[in-house]
Amino acid sequence: MISAQDICKAFNGQPVLRKVSLDLMRGEVVAVIGPSGSGKSTLLRCLNHLETIDSGQLLIEGEVLAETNAAGVCSYVPEAQIRRIGRKMGMVFQSFNLFPHLTVLENVIEAPMVVKGLARAQIVPRAEALLAKVGLLEKRNSYPARLSGGQKQRVAIARALAMEPDILLFDEPTSALDPELTGEVLRTMRELAQEKMTMLVVTHEMGFAREVANRVAFMDRGELIESGPAAEFFAQPKHARTQAFLHNML
Ligand code: ADP
Ligand code: MG
Repeated sequence: MISAQDICKAFNGQPVLRKVSLDLMRGEVVAVIGPSGSGKSTLLRCLNHLETIDSGQLLIEGEVLAETNAAGVCSYVPEAQIRRIGRKMGMVFQSFNLFPHLTVLENVIEAPMVVKGLARAQIVPRAEALLAKVGLLEKRNSYPARLSGGQKQRVAIARALAMEPDILLFDEPTSALDPELTGEVLRTMRELAQEKMTMLVVTHEMGFAREVANRVAFMDRGELIESGPAAEFFAQPKHARTQAFLHNML
């Protein structure tokens, strides 16, 4: 579903991603862990084209998004193609990013109406089904300000699903939540995993990574240090930096 090869990205000459390679298979859940500032968000933002890469190769569902030639020049496919490929992915942010002036239901139907041009009558039943799925149908007419953080994040997940993405990217979806609200969001994500949604999840929730992720990848200082099947990764981390990180987290 995603194939990233040797992705490099620098900000103001400072490398933030150093030859990062990562694959995501259909139906797979991959957790990306690592210290703050290691480049996890930048990696997700590059995959979702919220940032451009400086070099490397990026394929989404087998389609080239960006590639780098032998001379080291990185080029992207035309804008229309980028947008089409981009729609295969949905993203859920740490800070929810709901539209404050729209109700819960309106938040969920906005993108399908504006981006996909679907009629309101067409998308509302589906949006309501998604809100029911995340346990928030009764909040459909509430504004985000009236919701708890956990409820906001579940609306954000429903909103991402309303675009029918093939891949969901999560950037620390529970980091802004009080501990007692983390569980309800993780439960929703766990259900999506059981339904074989393809997900790439940046998280500090080691329990979630261990139980739900098929594979775990560890990033440190812009490098993807190691990745492996979750059970193996936690039981026998190979790299000293991974061991040190896990030692502090667990
Ligand atoms: P993480 O998500 O692992 O905490 P980030 O990808 O957010 O890490 O950041 C990695 C590094 O890139 C940090 O040093 C951060 O300050 C820097 N960085 C991220 N985004 C930008 C940006 N838009 N401009 C300049 N520096 C950035
Ligand atoms: Mg981050």
